[in-house]
Amino acid sequence: MENIYKLLTEYILDWNEKINVTAIKDPEEFYEKNIKDSLAITNRPEYIAAKKVLDLGTGGGFPGLPLAISSPEKDFILMDAVGKKLKVIDDVALKLGLKNVTTVHSRAEDYVSRETFDLVVSRAVANMSTLSEYCLPFVKLGGYFIAYKTEDAKEEIAAASNAIKLLGGELAEIADNGEGSNGHIFVIIKKVSPSPSKYPRKAGIPSKQPL
Ligand code: SAH
Repeated sequence: MENIYKLLTEYILDWNEKINVTAIKDPEEFYEKNIKDSLAITNRPEYIAAKKVLDLGTGGGFPGLPLAISSPEKDFILMDAVGKKLKVIDDVALKLGLKNVTTVHSRAEDYVSRETFDLVVSRAVANMSTLSEYCLPFVKLGGYFIAYKTEDAKEEIAAASNAIKLLGGELAEIADNGEGSNGHIFVIIKKVSPSPSKYPRKAGIPSKQPL
C-alpha cells in the first residue's frame, strides 16, 4: 500500500472511533474495499479526460478521496446531504495536504451547478434511475456519469433506461470488474443532450417516484 493511502486509512479509521464513517475497521480490508475499489476507474478514458469531477453522495469520501489523491491535476467536489461526514473529509484532506478537494453539504436535488462537470461519479447511493436523476443534470454535454454498481444491478440498470434517456444520457458501456473493483461493475453514461430544467425534481421525489 502506498504511504499516502496508508495515511488516508489511518486518518479515516481514527475518525471512525467517533463518527461512523465506514463499517470496515480492518486496514487491509479497508484498502481493498474502499481505496482500491474507488481507484478502479482511473484507467478509463472518461476519467483520464476529466478535469472537474463531482462525487455525489460521497459519505466518508468514497470514491472521491482516493481519486483526488491519485489525480492532483483534477478538481474534485465531494457532495453529501449529511454534513458530519464532510467534516471528516475536510480534516483528512487538510492533514494530507490535498488542494484539489472541496466538500459541499447539499442534497443533489438542491445543488445548483448544472451541466458543469466533466465527470460525475457515485457509489452506493441510490438505484440507477434515482441516481441518474441526481447525477446527470450536473454533467456537461459530452461528459460522463459513472456509477459504481454491483453485478446484481443489471436489472436495475435496464429499468433505468427511460430515465437515462429523459435526462439526456446514453448508456455507453457497462464495464466489468476492472482490477481492484471489489465486485463492482461500472455503468458509464454519456451526456448527449441537456437535461430538461424540471430535473431533478424536488428533494425526495427522485427516490420516492423514480422516473
Ligand atoms: N459513496 C460512499 C457513501 C455511500 S452511503 C461510499 O460508497 O462509501 C450513501 C450516501 O449518499 C450517504 O452519505 C447519504 O447521505 C448520501 N445521499 C443519499 N441521497 C442523497 C442525496 N439525494 N443527495 C446527496 N447525498 C445523498
